[in-house]
Amino acid sequence: MARERRGALLELLQRPGNARCADCGAPDPDWASHTLGVFICLSCSGIHRNIPQVSKVKSVRLDTWEEAQVEFMASHGNDAARATYEAKVPSFYYRPTFSDCQLLREQWIRAKYERKEFIHPEKQEPYSAGYREGLLWKRGRDNGQFLSRKFVLTEREGALKYFNKNDAKEPKAVLKIEHLNATFQPAKVGHPHGLQITYLKDNSTRNLFVYHEDGKEMADWFNALRAARFHYLQVAFPGASDADLVPKLSRNYLKEGYMEKTGPKQTEGFRKRWFTMDDRRLMYFKDPLPVSPQDAFARGEVFIGSKEGGYRVLAQLPPGTQGPRWAHGITIVTPDRKFLFACETEAEQREWVAAFQGVMDRPMLPQEYAVEARFKHKP
Ligand code: ZN
Repeated sequence: MARERRGALLELLQRPGNARCADCGAPDPDWASHTLGVFICLSCSGIHRNIPQVSKVKSVRLDTWEEAQVEFMASHGNDAARATYEAKVPSFYYRPTFSDCQLLREQWIRAKYERKEFIHPEKQEPYSAGYREGLLWKRGRDNGQFLSRKFVLTEREGALKYFNKNDAKEPKAVLKIEHLNATFQPAKVGHPHGLQITYLKDNSTRNLFVYHEDGKEMADWFNALRAARFHYLQVAFPGASDADLVPKLSRNYLKEGYMEKTGPKQTEGFRKRWFTMDDRRLMYFKDPLPVSPQDAFARGEVFIGSKEGGYRVLAQLPPGTQGPRWAHGITIVTPDRKFLFACETEAEQREWVAAFQGVMDRPMLPQEYAVEARFKHKP
């Protein structure tokens, strides 16, 4: 009997809807919630285990299953659960994948099954109302300590503002939604809910590092920022479809890490710098986190165009290059000049080359030519 039940379960895993984790899309899930009727991956099963009042999990391959539980799985499954628990997910809401941080995956699972936010849209107000205010811990620029700051997001003003004093009338900074990006960076911020917010000020990229102890609060802030970007873009590009706009709401960095670089004359010697690849912009900083106000600015930026535009990447340095301590060289060839880098390990070199190549293989969008032109005129 037990063998037949296992066979029936393994057969259910062959159904197309069950071939990927119901929550993060990871391939070949072999765990299941037998109270919700979904097949999930090992990693998501750990999150389900923390909400026992709605979800009870078992291994498809290792645990003992009762007949009624197998029948429940057969009559439900991932497609049916999606139709119920994801019935009203707003377009702008971030659906995490298996490569996203624990916070995003956990809050997605809790939003779906515990809070049932996508069955009852009135529960979506914290991120869909167009206005949000509250306190966040913000990393101070001078000493790196986190300080409690009031933040206000207002779609009507198209801005995220923060205040150094709770009763202050004038905000310390006004970040335009138009130029804003938010990406979770737990390791960099040093907190599992750490969020990096980037924005443009006087044409250069600035960063804020914030967190909230409560996971739901932090995920609500993130989705409120995405909602604000979505509504801004809907007005700015009236003909665009939701599918066109959703990828523009927030973006993760393609790659980050240390490399050594040399200056434009290539005689200055190589210096170790922290690099962030944000779409087509390769920025470098003295350190991953700014330790003084001047360090909050990128020291420099390189625009990475497309191969059609004459950009190339080579996993080597020109013969005879002097100076790098690190052995694994990279040359980026742009229409203007060559940029030379060195990585500490071969794995790092491979990842950076893949990140550059991926961007170069992508044809340029019309609006990206204007950005490229601005870079070309820089000294
Ligand atoms: Zn999963």
